[in-house]
Amino acid sequence: MELNEKMTWDLSAMYKDLTAWEADFNKIRPAAEKFLSYKGRLAESPAVLREAIEVSDEFDRLASKVYVYCHLKSDENTADNKNRARQEKVEALLASLAETDAWFDPEIMSIPDEVMEKFLASPELAFYKRSLLELLREKPHTLTEPEERLLGTLGDVLGSSDKAFEMLNDADMDFGSIKGESGKSEKLTHGSYRKFLESPDREVRKRAFKKMFSSYRKLRNTFSATLDGTVKRHVVSSRIRHYGSALEAALSSDNVPAEVYRNLIATVHNNLDAFYDYMKLRKEVMKLDRLDMFDMYNPLLPNCRKEYSFAEAVELVKAALKPLGDDYAKNLELAFKQRWVDVPERKGKRSGAYSSGCYDSYPYLLLNYNNTLNDVFTLAHELGHSMHSFYSNKTQEYHYADYSIFVAEVASTTNELLLFNHLLETTTDKDFRAFLLGHLLDEIRGTIYRQTMFAEFELLMHELSEAGEPLSADLLCEKYEELNALYYGPHVKPDKLISMEWARIPHFYYNFYVYKYATGMSAAIQLAENLRSGDPEKREAYFGFLKAGDSKDVLDIMKDAGVDLSTPAPIEAALKFFGKIVKELRQELKK
Ligand SMILES: [Zn+2]
Repeated sequence: MELNEKMTWDLSAMYKDLTAWEADFNKIRPAAEKFLSYKGRLAESPAVLREAIEVSDEFDRLASKVYVYCHLKSDENTADNKNRARQEKVEALLASLAETDAWFDPEIMSIPDEVMEKFLASPELAFYKRSLLELLREKPHTLTEPEERLLGTLGDVLGSSDKAFEMLNDADMDFGSIKGESGKSEKLTHGSYRKFLESPDREVRKRAFKKMFSSYRKLRNTFSATLDGTVKRHVVSSRIRHYGSALEAALSSDNVPAEVYRNLIATVHNNLDAFYDYMKLRKEVMKLDRLDMFDMYNPLLPNCRKEYSFAEAVELVKAALKPLGDDYAKNLELAFKQRWVDVPERKGKRSGAYSSGCYDSYPYLLLNYNNTLNDVFTLAHELGHSMHSFYSNKTQEYHYADYSIFVAEVASTTNELLLFNHLLETTTDKDFRAFLLGHLLDEIRGTIYRQTMFAEFELLMHELSEAGEPLSADLLCEKYEELNALYYGPHVKPDKLISMEWARIPHFYYNFYVYKYATGMSAAIQLAENLRSGDPEKREAYFGFLKAGDSKDVLDIMKDAGVDLSTPAPIEAALKFFGKIVKELRQELKK
């Protein structure tokens, strides 16, 4: 099939050809050397420090443009060796230059306090004051130079439990085969497990579940040893760096206080009844006395078979995003006019979907569009990321444009919720309505309830470890089973095998990461409601978030946008919203 150029992204807007790219590539090393020439000079004067920051930014900005171009180019056709070679060439160069910027932050931190105080008050550094203060916040947690060097040398060694887990889980684990829907034997893998769990055939789900977790059970001591190793590393590292706890250490980079984390858990606990009500509804629809843990992912309602051409998807998403106003709509057009989007699936193209780019490029979107409703949601989601980048890049200087992971999923999820609402409001088909409601419930369940359960387990493990308890397999299983029973509630049968689930969750190695999924979605639920209210002030506040980049602390950005995550209110509201949807779905199913 002929590839329609209009359906692909236009990378020539970044570099008109490879010669132009090569020219920038050749500027990287000189830029690094220029930056390195400031080594040892940062304390000279505010003007010199300012220049050094600017030169450092110039280097980063150039390197990221050169890198982003070849990663996008390479994703167009991963089988093309020339693309891959180019990407490897950049990676090798940047790795060889890593040393050129390792001195920078420590040298800033070594500037004596009294000198730094004067620097911070100087007009030359006014613009950079926020980022300097952010860096200085880490000063009490930074060790002496030889100590830092020693820890740096040990970096690889300290990561060995993570690596052992990855090898064990991704390479060595063998789950064998089970009898699939057709009655034939099929391989059980991490990928096919999800497919089996979504099967309408209860026996298939049961077989997959039993096989999966009994395989983990056999290796439970090894899995607990790798997890224990990683948790200990977090604990020890937080102590070496003088943090009050591993939680505090992990949250400090976003300047998020531990109460926000504990708030999330407490608020979810207070709203488990809505979740139990959903389990009850699931049980009723499936006509079971009680649910089993393998009855959680099979779709409650027949899947939506509607098809959407890409042009239809674009119109639908534009209509759904109307509450964002005219300026958003106008700039959204650019995504298609300037060809930010690579739409069709084709041989060799990177699978999945993402939004990616840099300060000096369009915020490109890679899709593998296949006409399903899911693909329409993906388009709305990725456009959310891209428009967030668009507004932040347009508003902020390079230095503050890049937004934090903490807020990264907020704009994309808000767009998805606006699409949900638009579809719900415009359809008259009651089966489709019920399908949408069920789908929305599963999204919120997976993102808020399930991730908070993980977040709670993570906290529990770290606190046990801080109290000197070794994380044995028995202890982990016991705690996981208790937590699972608490979250899933009275309509779900207790299950010994689910107590092994901790062994297969890679996120437990990420150091207090998953709670951001739950806070992000809660914020998005609130923001989508604010936008739908039509109140221009609330919309302005939302744009403040889209444009903020990294110019403020994440909690302040969210607060100014209308979501105060330092209080339980947004989580509370999101879970009330979930409870309301459960009731709506129950009503819909009665019709
Ligand atoms: Zn996303």
